[in-house]
Amino acid sequence: MTVATTLLDAVTVSQSEGRAIPDAATRETIGYAPVHTVADLNAAIAAARAAQPAWAALGHAERSRILNAIADDIEASAEELAVILSREQGKPLDGPNARFEVGACAVWTRSAADTVLEPEVVFEAGSARAEVHYDPLGVVGAIGPWNWPMMITVWQIAPSLRMGNTVVAKPSEYTPLSVLALVEVFNRHLPEGVLTAISGDREVGAAIAAHPDLDKIMFTGSTATGRRIVESSAHNLARLTLELGGNDAGIVLPGTDVAQVAQDLFWGCFINTGQTCAALKRLYVHDSVYDEVVDALAGLAEAMPMGRGLDDGNVLGPLQNEKQFDIVTRLVDDARARGARIVTGGRPLPDLGPLFYQATVVADIEDGAALVDEEQFGPAIPVIRYADVDDAVRRANASQQGLGASVWSSDRDAAIEVAKRLEAGTVWINGHGGLNPQVPFGGVKASGYGQEFGAAGLKAVAAPKVISW
Ligand code: NAD
Repeated sequence: MTVATTLLDAVTVSQSEGRAIPDAATRETIGYAPVHTVADLNAAIAAARAAQPAWAALGHAERSRILNAIADDIEASAEELAVILSREQGKPLDGPNARFEVGACAVWTRSAADTVLEPEVVFEAGSARAEVHYDPLGVVGAIGPWNWPMMITVWQIAPSLRMGNTVVAKPSEYTPLSVLALVEVFNRHLPEGVLTAISGDREVGAAIAAHPDLDKIMFTGSTATGRRIVESSAHNLARLTLELGGNDAGIVLPGTDVAQVAQDLFWGCFINTGQTCAALKRLYVHDSVYDEVVDALAGLAEAMPMGRGLDDGNVLGPLQNEKQFDIVTRLVDDARARGARIVTGGRPLPDLGPLFYQATVVADIEDGAALVDEEQFGPAIPVIRYADVDDAVRRANASQQGLGASVWSSDRDAAIEVAKRLEAGTVWINGHGGLNPQVPFGGVKASGYGQEFGAAGLKAVAAPKVISW
């Protein structure tokens, strides 16, 4: 069955020319994505290079006007975009999922349009003065993942466009149609060549990273791929923003009102069925509230409707792809074999579809278990007991990754003191993963470098130029 929507039709090519893209829940083909080659990539970069001076010359006010018109259009096309996203990615329409993601695309596009970035006076003495101005870099390559494909693409392309760069975007090979549809909406408003989507595989991704005529790579994906991109950048000296994997820890302090935080804890772990870079992936809970937290999480996991994204009321969906399904299965099976307690879940749900895995809470598990040490990127949370806060901080910081972290407590000051000791790009208190388009976001350690959002995000896609007299 093919869903006939105008946007989907606009980005789908014929069967003979394209690659079949399955519905994540049912595995039925929803459309055919173009198979772009390195030659297509080269042409797109040449077009972007040619279009860039005129785009930069439009100035901030006109580019902001265009971006706001795009945001309006995303809102006008929201349901259509959400249906494509829900089918291709698997996330339900309801809950913090497909409609939420499309809404965020409009919000982040507007924020890129409206954030003020004036030249900064960095020195003044008598008649001497130095100012930093922010010029466009040129052509930006944007490489995205499959978990929040539209929203993360907007994070990459909207600030880049606002600053006067042109962009070539490559969606993940797992979720090309949703990104192509989003780019289609952008291109109703942009001049030719300013934004091109290239739907290619990992080889095309590698060709972008190594391309001699790109000035900046915005990359969101795994740490392993991030390392390869850093190697390529030794040759083209492209500037990099790398948003890589995470294995975010949360620490629940003694005395926490568990009933009050339970819902937020649950969504911190299970947002997008756990397939979120900055989701809670290891939860350290003080002995005094351990059983209460485990029971609360298990109760919510059992109560949350899981199923096909287009069916009303579902808030959890399938794993997006078989590789990720296998990772989650392996990690939970390993935890069980080590004697950890599977409080709820712990098995696939084939009646719903081949890639559904039950929301899973695993207790009585320790660091050293693969489910704790590795990124599961799926609906399975290990809950680890601790007795001493210093020990919990040490274990939370023991990871190579440092994207996000959280502290949960009824005592905000105590939580802030613990937050200061955690090695992460963002530490949330009594929440996890909440993002704000004005607040910088990025990782430390192996979770990457560079920040997105707000003025920091605009600077990351600009060339600072000092003018001094
Ligand atoms: P991935 O690294 O496998 O793929 C990401 C993108 O890189 C895809 O478009 C892919 O085609 C491309 N690619 C593959 N090989 C390449 C190469 N050699 N050079 C250039 N590009 C190449 O990641 P994924 O499986 O799509 O995403 C999941 C990972 O992304 C998880 O680890 C997750 O934590 C991370 N992630 C991080 C953030 C963040 O903001 N930090 C957000 C979402 C996902």
